Amino acid sequence: MNTERPLLVIVGSANTDLVVHTPQFPVPGETRLGSAFQLSCGGKGANQAVAAARLGARVALVGKVGRDDFGQRALANLQQEGLDTTHVYQHPEAATGVAIITVNAQGQNTIVVAPGANHELLPADLDQAVTLLEQAAYLVVQLEIPLPTVLYLVAWARRRGKRVVLNPAPALPLPDDVYHDLFLLTPNETEAEALTGVPVRDADSARAAAQVLRERGVRNVVVTLGAQGAFLHTATYTGLVPAPHVEAVDTTAAGDVFTGALAVALTQNLDWERAAHFACQAAAVAVTRLGAQVSAPYRHELLAS
Ligand code: ATP
Repeated sequence: MNTERPLLVIVGSANTDLVVHTPQFPVPGETRLGSAFQLSCGGKGANQAVAAARLGARVALVGKVGRDDFGQRALANLQQEGLDTTHVYQHPEAATGVAIITVNAQGQNTIVVAPGANHELLPADLDQAVTLLEQAAYLVVQLEIPLPTVLYLVAWARRRGKRVVLNPAPALPLPDDVYHDLFLLTPNETEAEALTGVPVRDADSARAAAQVLRERGVRNVVVTLGAQGAFLHTATYTGLVPAPHVEAVDTTAAGDVFTGALAVALTQNLDWERAAHFACQAAAVAVTRLGAQVSAPYRHELLAS
C-alpha cells in the first residue's frame, strides 16, 4: 500500500522581489533616497508552492531560475521550505526573474517584473520532468511562464487524465479550447473580468462570470473576492464562502496563498465548500502579516473556526 502523501506539482515562476520604500515615487529623471530595502523570494509559482508546503502538502516545483546569486538563493529558499526542487532548472545565461517594487508612504506600489529565466521554461523542460508530473495528484500552474508551456502542460494532462488547476494570473487571453481541459480555474475579480468581460465586484457578478467560464468547459471555478471571500461555481456546490474578518495589513500574495491552500485541500479530498473555507482561513492569516511569500501560514497557525 502506498502511504505517501499525495504529491502536488506546481509549474511556475520563481522570482526575487527587490522592495524599496520611499516617501514619494520619483518622477522620470529624478533620483530619490528610499528609507528601507528588502530582498525576498517570490514569483507566483514559488509562492503557491511554499504556501502549500507550509500547510503540510508534499510539493514539487517545476520552474527555471538563472545560474546567478538570486537563482542560488531562490533554490536554497525552496529547499529550506521542504520542496522538491529536482526540476527547478538553472538557465546558463538568463538571469533569475526579478520584481522591482517601490512602495510609497501611502502604501501604494509600482512593480516592474523582468521575467528572465521564467520565460525560458519550455515544453522540453516539462518532457524532462515527466516522471515527476506522472506522480502528481494535482498540477497547479499560473501565467508567469510562457503560455505555450502552460498549454503544453494542459494538453499533456488531458492525455494522462491528470487534474489541472490554473490560476490565471496575470490575466492573459486564453485559447477557447483550453477551458474544457481545466479541472479548476481560480481567477481574482480582475482576472475573471478580463477572461469573461463581466465586471466582477460581488457574489452575484462573480456567479455570472463563473457561469460563463463553466459554459466554456471549465469543470470548477472559484473566483476570489478579496475581503468578501470566494465564490464557488463547482460540480457540487455553488455559493459564496465568506472570508473571516481580520485586520488586513498587507494583502500581497493573498491570491497565491489561497490557490496553494485550495490545492492542498483538494489533495485531501475535502468537499468544495470545506476546501474553500480552508483556503479562506489560510489567506486570512496571510493578509494579517507584512510581505508576500513569507506571510504564508503554517497549518498550526490557521484560525480556529
Ligand atoms: P493579491 O493580488 O493581493 O495576491 P488577489 O487579488 O489575487 O490577491 P484576492 O481576491 O484579493 O486575491 O484575495 C484572495 C483571497 O484572500 C480571498 O479570496 C480571501 O479569502 C483572502 N483575502 C484577501 N483579502 C482579505 C481580507 N482583507 N480579509 C480576509 N481575507 C482576505
